[in-house]
Amino acid sequence: MAAYLEKLNDAQRSAVEYGVGGAGIAGPLLIIAGAGSGKTNTLAHRVAHLIVNGTDPRRILLMTFSRRAAAEMARRVERICHQVLGTNGAAYSNALEWSGTFHGIGARLLREYCDQISLDRNFTIHDREDSADLMNLVRHELGFSKTESRFPTKGTCLAIYSRTINSEKPLEEVLKENFPWCATWDTQLRQLFAGYVEAKQLQNVLDYDDLLLYWCQTVTDPLLAEDIGSRFDHVMVDEYQDTNRLQSSILLALKPMGRGLTVVGDDAQSIYSFRSATIRNILDFPASFTPAADIITLDRNYRSTQPILTAANAVIDLASQRFTKNLWTERKSADRPQLVTVRDESEQARYVVEQVLDRRENGALLKQQAVLFRTSSHSGALEVELTRRNIPFVKFGGLKFLDSSHIKDLLATLRFVQNPRDRVAGFRLMQLLPGVGPASAQSVLDKMAACSDPIKSLSEIPAPARAGEDWPAFVQMLQGIHGRKEGWPAELEQIRIWYEPHLDRIHDDASMRQADLLQLQQIAAGYPSRERFLTELTLDPPDATSDQSGVPLLDEDYLILSTIHSAKGQEWKSVYVLNVVDGCMPSDLGAGSTPELEEERRLLYVAMTRAKDDLHLVVPQRFFTHGQNSQGDRHIYASRTRFIPATLLQYFECTTWPKVRQETSKQAEARNVRVDIAARMRGMWG
Ligand code: ATP
Ligand code: MG
Repeated sequence: MAAYLEKLNDAQRSAVEYGVGGAGIAGPLLIIAGAGSGKTNTLAHRVAHLIVNGTDPRRILLMTFSRRAAAEMARRVERICHQVLGTNGAAYSNALEWSGTFHGIGARLLREYCDQISLDRNFTIHDREDSADLMNLVRHELGFSKTESRFPTKGTCLAIYSRTINSEKPLEEVLKENFPWCATWDTQLRQLFAGYVEAKQLQNVLDYDDLLLYWCQTVTDPLLAEDIGSRFDHVMVDEYQDTNRLQSSILLALKPMGRGLTVVGDDAQSIYSFRSATIRNILDFPASFTPAADIITLDRNYRSTQPILTAANAVIDLASQRFTKNLWTERKSADRPQLVTVRDESEQARYVVEQVLDRRENGALLKQQAVLFRTSSHSGALEVELTRRNIPFVKFGGLKFLDSSHIKDLLATLRFVQNPRDRVAGFRLMQLLPGVGPASAQSVLDKMAACSDPIKSLSEIPAPARAGEDWPAFVQMLQGIHGRKEGWPAELEQIRIWYEPHLDRIHDDASMRQADLLQLQQIAAGYPSRERFLTELTLDPPDATSDQSGVPLLDEDYLILSTIHSAKGQEWKSVYVLNVVDGCMPSDLGAGSTPELEEERRLLYVAMTRAKDDLHLVVPQRFFTHGQNSQGDRHIYASRTRFIPATLLQYFECTTWPKVRQETSKQAEARNVRVDIAARMRGMWG
């Protein structure tokens, strides 16, 4: 037996070898198993095993949750191919060219098939913010925001639209189930969405949902289905529990009989229903085919020590519904996970920093430790403390480098050059010029839209009255790039030179932002074309780092800060979970209905199962909320999450920090009384 197969347990090996070497292509196969049982590792082995046994890597479609996960998967495949096939392991993993996220793969396929589906090849992709802006433009045009003062916000409109698309449900059902307070606007919303779709088509832009929707339509088209489906012998999906209806429709259309289809997931880790993911996808998978899909379950965990696993199992055992069984491990340890009570968020930050540094003293890298939280804003106090103590960190799932306005300005310029019909980009860009407001920008864009070569036509279109000298410079910059004088990525330099005076004028901290622009140029140099750069950055932007530059600190050691959602699939030696209190976990926003509450429980399970050697759940007695409810910003007196009731405390080492003289219960009571009065006094003044 090949060495890479020997390391696997029996169940893993049967999943890796499933159908390989048999007659024809086997499947469908579902691998469903708990956290850390080697699902992702097994999938990587399966890909490598297929390649080793002669499958052309270009005929494998592999879909993961993030680009990072895809890269990690390619690395594992490469290692095995290298072992077995010799030095050209990298050649094989590079040939695994169809690996990425659903949206990323969708964008690539659509570029390839654009002629057949009458899509202009130069389409640009709107991120959520751009989409909301376009929704807003259409809303204004229809006059809904003026006449109907309580009309849903642009964000809510987009959320309703997006859920309707991704869940493949009729609008009235989505309104009834998820947005009951907007149900009265049914008719207007229909009009708005029709206008929004039309605007996207006119402007040749696709939003995230379109990437899936167009893909689904392409692959269900009778003339194209066969062609696309037969390009891939194998279609594999990791983290299948977090896919939505539309994504499962795409898979079923690609492989109607399920042959060559392998999906992997854990129903206990389904945490993306807010993006219309549905746990039903994984539960209904076997019966979607005749004969039904084969199922392989894994029950040995290789990641965590037994005490960590026991505690995590106990938490998820209280869930009302679940398919996967409890896990076991051979990793013994005497240490139970820590459940640490601290006074407030600044103490919480100090506790985490002390522990992190302690472990670093003892030889653990910062990178092997991660701090997880429910919502990006929860790490504020910790970020302050880390900065004060000069500890480098990288934050995943928070504010992205690309969210800053100067980076967006630059990207909008690129987008506008790529696709001059993109009005959101054009609007943003023109209004950077002093003297150009929405009305004159709109008038220029209207005139451009009527021309066959909009950028060339700018020479004939009269400049807005108050634009002055800035206008010719703007037109010259666009036309220079449009004429491909410099080409990619040199054109970025032209844009930067044009943009810098505006940056100086608009921002006080221009020099810091200039450094960002230079770094964006460096990042861009790594992409083969403008179009690839724009697509990949829009779909999966790099994460913000502690120096706020957006360039990953590759060679340095840094602590990981991450939302629980973004920590999916990953593991660290030490894990600290912040704010394990009611109000944060479950979040106030997520405690409305039973399904929401169950999802919050699974989030805690996901967080706990990221830890290999030690796990700390921190419970601050007070925490600060940022205007999440009607009372605005305020301190809240917190208690331990309801997901760890008293009966579960036996699985934890319960402590308080800092370790002070034990308070008598009377003293504690007295302290609480004082605190209560203070709260009441504040309440008197609203
Ligand atoms: P999650 O549910 O969190 O996505 P997973 O089921 O995908 O987890 P992996 O990330 O694939 O699990 O594996 C967890 C850890 O266990 C990894 O460090 C992996 O290398 C290790 N592992 C998996 N299978 C084996 C094995 N047979 N022998 C040794 N280590 C293994
Ligand atoms: Mg995994």
